[in-house]
Amino acid sequence: MAVASSKPGGKSAASPALDGVPAATAGRLRSLGIHRWSDLLLHLPLRYEDETRLSDLDHLEPDQPVHLEVVVDAHEVTYRPRKALRVLVHCGRRPLSLRFLNFYPSQLRQFEAGQLLRVSGELRMGFAGLEMVHPRYRVVEPGTALASTLTPIYPTTAGLAQPTLRKLAQQALKRAEPLAETLPARVRDALHLMPLADCLRLLHQPPAGVALGTLEDHSHPAWQRLKFEELLAQQLSMRQHRQERRALVAPALDGAGRLTAALLQALPFALTHAQQRVLNEIRADLAQRHPMQRLLQGDVGSGKTIVAALACAQAIDHGHQAVLIAPTEILAEQHFQKIAALLTPLGIRTAWVTGSQKRRARTEALQALADGSAQLAIGTHALLEDPVLFARLGVVVIDEQHRFGVEQRLALRRKSERAGTGQPHQLMMSATPIPRTLSMSFFADLDVSVIDELPPGRVPIITKLVDVARRTQLIERVRTLCASGEQAYWVCPLVEESEALELQPAIEACAELQAACPELKVGLVHGRLPPAEKAAVMQAFTRNELQLLVATTVIEVGVDVPNATMMVIEHAERMGLAQLHQLRGRVGRGGKQGFCVLLFNRPLSETARQRLKVIYESTDGFVIAREDLRLRGPGEFLGARQSGAPMLRFADLDEDIELLELARDWADRLLRESPVEAQLHLDRWLGSRADYLRA
Ligand code: ADP
Ligand code: MG
Repeated sequence: MAVASSKPGGKSAASPALDGVPAATAGRLRSLGIHRWSDLLLHLPLRYEDETRLSDLDHLEPDQPVHLEVVVDAHEVTYRPRKALRVLVHCGRRPLSLRFLNFYPSQLRQFEAGQLLRVSGELRMGFAGLEMVHPRYRVVEPGTALASTLTPIYPTTAGLAQPTLRKLAQQALKRAEPLAETLPARVRDALHLMPLADCLRLLHQPPAGVALGTLEDHSHPAWQRLKFEELLAQQLSMRQHRQERRALVAPALDGAGRLTAALLQALPFALTHAQQRVLNEIRADLAQRHPMQRLLQGDVGSGKTIVAALACAQAIDHGHQAVLIAPTEILAEQHFQKIAALLTPLGIRTAWVTGSQKRRARTEALQALADGSAQLAIGTHALLEDPVLFARLGVVVIDEQHRFGVEQRLALRRKSERAGTGQPHQLMMSATPIPRTLSMSFFADLDVSVIDELPPGRVPIITKLVDVARRTQLIERVRTLCASGEQAYWVCPLVEESEALELQPAIEACAELQAACPELKVGLVHGRLPPAEKAAVMQAFTRNELQLLVATTVIEVGVDVPNATMMVIEHAERMGLAQLHQLRGRVGRGGKQGFCVLLFNRPLSETARQRLKVIYESTDGFVIAREDLRLRGPGEFLGARQSGAPMLRFADLDEDIELLELARDWADRLLRESPVEAQLHLDRWLGSRADYLRA
């Protein structure tokens, strides 16, 4: 097929950037994120097939695909157990058979006796001797030369065949511009990088005899170079983003005032050193004329909320408004209760905004925010919706930031742009500690503060792993605990929060526990409960009117009931590490010994076993996060932060820490010394996708 020629009928090149590629093909390429010739070159093979040599049937390497030249002896179509084509062939003196389950009648002609074929695929010992099922094959003439390079296999999509991709890659390799260097010579020399053109040629068409292992494990210098390029682009982009932010205008909220002082006075405790330190960092940011973008990290229970409230107070002290957004209604409600209780006596009006509130209440809240009579707003992402306008928004706090998406943050920014008060300062909070490699890469555009100390008097939680076979004894334990005046959570996991069916286990557990412990008040809370009921149940639990709360994972984030000392998690083997850590953080908050019981069902998969081991052995959020990154990759941490943005395609944050450090150092230098080249490099790597990184 001539890939470069236009279709008859005149509708041709749809993509000016991929000139000459037929519209349909260009469309399929776009769905792979390929818009330009340079994208095509960065679309690297997943693996390779070696058709540069023929395998030796007498010296086969185990589990390796073979490439054989065979002669057809006969073929037959069988009908039982289902229609299949069997081609009997020999290779040297060894007979073997090829089996095809799907085939076209026209294919049969290719299997006349005496025909020479090259076949590749897996060879196995079948019922009737050596066989290959669905091998790739090619009809050849005697003496046909072997391939001179390894055959690349690309990631692809429906309707885009490997040969098409191969031809396109070859075309791209013949063009000059996608191969042009964007890295200045001094960088290439300093790091002994292979020329880019050589790298790309090697990766798309590895010469026979290349160390295939180093291509596959990405340790080959060609791979190292591409990884470095990618990491450099990411670092440049993050740094640029930071610089752009510095050029924006935000209200300078310099120094704490009356409200902040009064709030500190009203607290029933003193801030920990760590809280005080991060508060100082935040204050220094708020005093600047450009918007703060700070990530406040602190393990569950480290006391982030009060720090956020103090940041809000500083905005209010300067005549601005503040908003605190939480990802779930339960959490938002709890923040509202606590913060309003502190601030209302100090003369501050706090507006409560969620998607589920009554229209009257909502209209009132929105009015108060728009005319400035409410200084603080607390709520869910309903606060991001269109009709919500602020008079003078100064500070935005986003709790559990990884639960929010890029789109939502963009919405917030647009909102304040329209209000004409400049950008608000942003404080993002997260209880999921971000491992160093991630904070150096995906979060490099943010400033990070860490609360690395828990409030005094916390007793470390005891974690137990319990086989579900001992559930009855466990229920007895819970009963005794609740009888002594303490409270417990009983968590049932949801696979799909939205599926009614999935609620069944929680509903059943609730009935079962109530029956087993008739003297206790047992409550049930889950995501499908109407918000008012949800809030009522949570309040009853907070007030110890319910002793045992059966919950789906809606209580995962942020809920704070100090008298709850025990948590049972059913099917803990199904849950992710971050989730387990968050859940466990709900207990042991009030200075009493907390227990977390992880009930598990057998059989345990290997990952489940590893996860349970990690959570059992460690309560340190950083250790858990690092293990989580290792077990699952970065997606979980990024949440929706970078959705749609290029995840790292080539570099691996677990392995490429040294390259990452190099990239970070060089990004700084390049932006200073060679901004034009830096931009070229960014354009190549990020191209049209760069916008997503701006959120
Ligand atoms: P998280 O960081 O998980 O959001 P919270 O802000 O909910 O933690 O705080 C957890 C609990 O610790 C709350 O009950 C809060 O009132 C309490 N707390 C916060 N700071 C301190 C402190 N400095 N001393 C004692 N208790 C504190
Ligand atoms: Mg919190």
